[in-house]
Amino acid sequence: MKIRFLGTGTSHGIPVIGCHCVVCRSKDPKDKRSRASVYIHTKGLDFLIDAGPELRRQLLAAKIDNLDVLLLTHAHADHIAGLDDVRIFSERQARDFPIFGPRSALRQVRQRFDYVFCNTQKGGGKPRLALHPVQHPFHLGQVRVVPIPLWHGKLRVYGYRIKDFAYCTDVSRIPEASYKLLRGVKVLVLDALRPLPHETHFNLEQALTEAKRIGAKQTYLTHMCHLLKHAETEKQLPRAVRLAYDGLELEL
Ligand SMILES: [Zn+2]
Ligand SMILES: [Zn+2]
Ligand SMILES: [Zn+2]
Repeated sequence: MKIRFLGTGTSHGIPVIGCHCVVCRSKDPKDKRSRASVYIHTKGLDFLIDAGPELRRQLLAAKIDNLDVLLLTHAHADHIAGLDDVRIFSERQARDFPIFGPRSALRQVRQRFDYVFCNTQKGGGKPRLALHPVQHPFHLGQVRVVPIPLWHGKLRVYGYRIKDFAYCTDVSRIPEASYKLLRGVKVLVLDALRPLPHETHFNLEQALTEAKRIGAKQTYLTHMCHLLKHAETEKQLPRAVRLAYDGLELEL
């Protein structure tokens, strides 16, 4: 199983337009964060979790030639704004491109990408999308995908677990029942927006508390804003917790 972090930034992306803070001006490539997304290759299937506005550039940078499935965590713009770009895969595979996610998020996709779902003139390049609302673990080929219900402020969103890897971005509270779904994960990805508390995201301290409770061998933090400088923040973290960065690859 191969994992690549395509983006690890919060909704603004880092650098933030017009910001000249020390992180936005940093020369460390690990301080450049595009919008949060991850690619997973396992058993002949290429998964993408979320399709942010930089999807095309992220795929080109990673030299990813194929995607089979998109798993959506929720429908905030920083997670779906690049959705149209999956059309290269529906064209090439001559089939509807499957998207799995919470029913509410898929309803939003249908509204915001309405042109995809109505009849328009021939010749306009549109993606062909098949929306699959999911509530329970499901199989794609031999791969078991476990949606993990999470709270993102008052919004119900999903994290996803595939084998021993779990990805939980955009979360401010983990429901009690979801800890069971995370039991035994070896690599965990958790939201850690910034040092200060936030209504809809874990801050750094909360993410560390959750990482300890879940107890994965390795936890990576993501969806970070410009208040976290990569190198300085990592120095303060326990060894089992690292900051993810754009382009980080893991083999599991
Ligand atoms: Zn987000
Ligand atoms: Zn800044
Ligand atoms: Zn969000």
